[in-house]
Amino acid sequence: MTTIRQEFVFAAIQRADALTDSYIRNDVIKRYEFVKQTILDDESLTIDEKAKAIKFITKDYDYFKVLSNKGTKRLCENCSLEFLATLYCEHCVRTYLKNNFSNWTSGNNNVDYLIQKCQIESFRPNNIIEWIPYNNLQNIKYRARGGCSEIYSANWIDGKYIKWNSKKQQLKRTGTFEVILKKLENIENANRSWFEEAKSHLTLSNKYGEFVRCYGLTQDPINKVYMLVMRLMDIDLRKYLEYQRTWKEKINVAYGIIYALYRIHYDGAVHRDLHSGNILCSQYNDFWYIGDFGFCGPADKPLKSIYGNLPYIAPE
Ligand SMILES: [Zn+2]
Repeated sequence: MTTIRQEFVFAAIQRADALTDSYIRNDVIKRYEFVKQTILDDESLTIDEKAKAIKFITKDYDYFKVLSNKGTKRLCENCSLEFLATLYCEHCVRTYLKNNFSNWTSGNNNVDYLIQKCQIESFRPNNIIEWIPYNNLQNIKYRARGGCSEIYSANWIDGKYIKWNSKKQQLKRTGTFEVILKKLENIENANRSWFEEAKSHLTLSNKYGEFVRCYGLTQDPINKVYMLVMRLMDIDLRKYLEYQRTWKEKINVAYGIIYALYRIHYDGAVHRDLHSGNILCSQYNDFWYIGDFGFCGPADKPLKSIYGNLPYIAPE
C-alpha cells in the first residue's frame, strides 16, 4: 500500500462536502452518494486515498442514518433485528454494552445510570461514553487552569473503543493514547453542580460529533473528585489567530463554529460560555470543534447569575 496523504484525503472530503447542494441532495442517502462519487472522481487522490476517504464518509453516513433513524434497513444475522448502519449492527453494539453493565461501576448510582443511558443510546462504535477506572490513566500531569477548572493530561491505557468486530461480536479498542482530564467541581455562585456539567458534556458528546469529544468519566480515588476524560486538541482559536490566516482558513473556522452551534440550538440548548479559548482545532482532519459545556443548558432556563471566563464576559 502506498503512503496515505491524510491532508489530501480530508481536503477532498471537504471539497466534496462544499460542492453538495443540500436543497437537491436533501437527505442523508443522496448526500452520501454525491460525496462518494465526487471523491471517486477526484484526480488528486490515489486509489488507496479514495478508499480511505470513502471509509471515513461511510462511518459518518452510518452515524447519520442511525441518528435520524432513516435509510434502508437490513436484517442482522446475529440479533435478527433490522439495522441501519452498513459497517455494524447498532443493536448488536448496544446489546454488547448492555451485557457488560455488570462488569463495571463508578460506585455512584447517578453516574452509572447516566453512562448506561448514553451507551444504550450510542450511535457509532467509535464514540462510546464509558466509566474509565482511574488506574487506566497513567502519567497524569497538570497542564493549566481552563475556565473554572483544572486541566490535566494523561495516557489512557487500552484507549477508547474504535470499531465493531462483527465476527467476534465485540468492540475493539485503540490502544494507549493521550487524553485530557478536566476536574469537575460545583460552581456555587452559578448554581451549577459537577453532575449537571458531566451530564451536559456526556449526553451532547454521545450524540453529536461537532463538539470536543468526551470519552467518559473517571474519579480520583484520593480526593474523590470526578473528572471528564476528553480528546486532546491541537490549538485553540485564540492562539490560531495570533498568526496570519487565509480567508479559506477563516471560513473553515466559521463553518465549524456555526455547524456546532446549529446542533446545540437544534436541541433547544444554548452554550452560554462561547469564546476563542474553547473553540478548538484538530489538525488530524483540520476541523474545528466547540468545547466546554459547563454552562450549556436549555434556552428557556437561564443561569441564576452571570458566570463565565472573566475576559469574555459582556461588560454590561
Ligand atoms: Zn444485530
